Amino acid sequence: MCWQRRFTLFTGAVFSLMACTLGLAAENAQIWEPVPELVTVSEAESPPSDAIILFGGTDLDAWHTAESEQAVAWEIEAGVATVRRGNGTIKTRQAFGDIQLHVEWRANAEIEGEGQSRGNSGIFLQSLYELQILDSWQNPTYVNGQAGAIYLQHPPLANAARAPGEWQSYDIFFTAPRFATDGSVNTPAYITVLHNGVLVQNHAEIKGATYTPQPIYAVRCTPYAQTREQDCSGKMPISLQDHGQVVSYRNIWIREL
Ligand code: MG
Repeated sequence: MCWQRRFTLFTGAVFSLMACTLGLAAENAQIWEPVPELVTVSEAESPPSDAIILFGGTDLDAWHTAESEQAVAWEIEAGVATVRRGNGTIKTRQAFGDIQLHVEWRANAEIEGEGQSRGNSGIFLQSLYELQILDSWQNPTYVNGQAGAIYLQHPPLANAARAPGEWQSYDIFFTAPRFATDGSVNTPAYITVLHNGVLVQNHAEIKGATYTPQPIYAVRCTPYAQTREQDCSGKMPISLQDHGQVVSYRNIWIREL
């Protein structure tokens, strides 16, 4: 009895010591600063308080044409901006690196064309890497070109498309590529995307610029303003594609990370 009691006392003390040590270790792992900024989130579908509004329904002043940097002539009506065919792709005046981006879009209710010619637009992160917008409701095409795809690189993990004429959303979490001082790539870009709340890209590695024969990063990054290639700073504008089809946008906001 006595030996057993001593053993119990001994093991109890050991456990207490272990618990104390673990407690101290846990305390050392606690992070108190910096305190995350308080952000207010509306119950309605309005942006969080720290978001930069890229399109709030009245104007596209945060954008200009991608080719000539002129004012955008897309149609704006009742809080909705619609691609004006042939007016060209547009891009933000501001450059961004790591971001959270919210975009609501809608393919034309009246179905025209098929495959890649039906409700095609796109969001070009850093003006180089396309997250495809397409009317993918009962519209077969190559899967790495449907809605939610990183164009010609990654098919979406699911087809979360709504019918044409219905509003859809993308919530995008993008990590910009990093470059060494000599311009070579240190780490590639990564992207996570929710399409209508469904995970369609999960930390997918972007292999390089869209439309290059084999998507690669520029061997040497250069100042964007001079070459329209990858900017060494890792910050570049975001583009919305005019692919010649009627696609509308509303409620576009961004948070820098
Ligand atoms: Mg496209």
